[in-house]
Amino acid sequence: MAVIIDGKEVAGRLRRELRDRVKALRDAGTVPCLAVILAGDNGASLSYVAAKEKALEEAGMDGRDFRLPEETTQAELLSLIAALNADPQVHGILVQLPLPSPIDAGPVIAAIDPAKDVDGFHPVSVGNLVLGRPGFLPCTPHGVLVLLREYGVPVSGAHAVVLGRSGIVGKPLANLLSRRDQNATVTLCHTGTRNMADICRQADILIAAVGKPGMIRGDMIKEGAAVIDVGVNRVPESGTKKGYRIRGDVDFETAAEKAGFITPVPGGVGPMTIAMLLENVVQAAETAGGIR
Ligand code: NAP
Repeated sequence: MAVIIDGKEVAGRLRRELRDRVKALRDAGTVPCLAVILAGDNGASLSYVAAKEKALEEAGMDGRDFRLPEETTQAELLSLIAALNADPQVHGILVQLPLPSPIDAGPVIAAIDPAKDVDGFHPVSVGNLVLGRPGFLPCTPHGVLVLLREYGVPVSGAHAVVLGRSGIVGKPLANLLSRRDQNATVTLCHTGTRNMADICRQADILIAAVGKPGMIRGDMIKEGAAVIDVGVNRVPESGTKKGYRIRGDVDFETAAEKAGFITPVPGGVGPMTIAMLLENVVQAAETAGGIR
């Protein structure tokens, strides 16, 4: 039976450790502050934003909340971002995705000052990541690396298979894992991949970020592999309070029989995303305050 990677525990520890850095900043007169912009009323986005705001408060940081209507225009968003860029009391800016159509997220993200890009989605942050230069790392991929490190999963020389090539998870993860400091050999799979099950069975580290509940079953996993499930999928279920339950991309029961390490959903990668976001905000505030 696999070792269960407890992301909730690791994230809790990281968040407690961050409190000392927040205290040092506050003592020096700087309260780390994240501006969160949410346009529209996407159900999942509302709950992500609420969780981020609660985490900021618990960490002793400031959150500035901008809830905008579904009809918000791109020009309005750009002018809000320009104001937040110019505000020295705001250290990080987060635009919750997806944005309502027809807003094009690309120019909106690109308008954020890269020094405040705590989500790590700005083209400058992406370029730094690919080039191996210092910069903000995107929170979910960074959280995955920290989980592998915390559980002593060997990454250097391992064959890491990443399923999904989104700009926020799959692609940055594949890039990070293939950097010299991680040193994995990476295969990146997507809907154009042939024989995906065979490729999965070759993985020492298998990371699923496809958004398909239970797609990865035990028979696709190599004995002893580390299985990281990024998926967060709402599966309708009658009799539950919300009418759905959250399920990952991995079929946990069958996968846990084969894997050496496995993340649960919920309680695996999800809590790490928020912890890494808080760390990026603290880092941004430290840089702005000349502490680092
Ligand atoms: P996304 O933008 O929805 O893209 C999904 C990716 O998976 C695409 O690259 C797609 O390939 C690939 N894919 C879909 N079905 C596939 C199949 N049958 N075979 C092979 N590849 C397939 O992905 P995302 O935004 O990264 O989200 C992925 C999952 O992670 C979702 O469940 C999301 O909710 C979750 N997520 C969790 C966190 C967290 O904090 N835990 C953060 C972000 C996302 P193509 O490119 O060919 O279409």
